[in-house]
Amino acid sequence: MKLFALLAILLAPMALAQEPPEPIEHTEVAPGIFMLHTIGGVGLLVGDDYVVMIDDSMRQRGDAVVEKAEALAGRPVDFVINTHVHADHVGANQTLAESGALIVAHDNIRKRMLDDAELNTGPGALPVITFSDNVTFHINGQEAFVFHIPSAHTDGDAAILFREANVIAPGDLVFRGIFPYIDLDNGGNVAGFIAGMERLIDMSNDETKFISGHGPLGTRAELQQDLAMLKDAASLVKALVDKGMDAEQIVAANPLAKYHDDYNWRFITTERMTKTLIRSLTEK
Ligand SMILES: [Zn+2]
Repeated sequence: MKLFALLAILLAPMALAQEPPEPIEHTEVAPGIFMLHTIGGVGLLVGDDYVVMIDDSMRQRGDAVVEKAEALAGRPVDFVINTHVHADHVGANQTLAESGALIVAHDNIRKRMLDDAELNTGPGALPVITFSDNVTFHINGQEAFVFHIPSAHTDGDAAILFREANVIAPGDLVFRGIFPYIDLDNGGNVAGFIAGMERLIDMSNDETKFISGHGPLGTRAELQQDLAMLKDAASLVKALVDKGMDAEQIVAANPLAKYHDDYNWRFITTERMTKTLIRSLTEK
């Protein structure tokens, strides 16, 4: 290896550490409703009354998210709605609370965060307003209906329907065009995830825009495509479970091979998706 190539490799981590974080891009989904393109799809509702943020990305992105939201809204965020308990969606709660926001979430998010030292980082990190089934915001001439979706991605999932704008922020019920993460250890399961996606599709139409938890802005047709994949994947795996094959044999048979090129990604590989389906379909 040439010396300069070796040096480039050795020095790359230092260069990365010194580089300022990438600016957060945004899309105006509807008048006054934005999607911020950062880890864990962040939504933002701005207007004359209040500023509402949906999820706030990771702890390390907190300052950048606050700065971006304030630049778009012209003032600080008043409310943050957490869609579920993962660190890439609630990680910056404390930063947002310090900037004056009230955190709103499903009961189970607060319960799970209480016991999690990584998420319960200090004053303001925990939701201060919680709900069990749904809550509605009436602000900025919009109705934002926040509703619980039981046992899907986790056991504390919420989605937000902006009725007038025909926009839905479904949290991690939507992994657009990639295998979904279904967090069995935090109360999620495959049947609940499928039921949750069906509910989102039922309440939408061809013009609805979805602020995906991961991936680009989605349409109803795209969600139907992702749902069809998941249902088929579950039935392919179930057929092998029903044959009496064990987990190792099913993974080796690679029943999701036809979806690999389109849906496999770094975090949820085809093998991990297969294992999640096996576990969720066989767990009592
Ligand atoms: Zn998640």
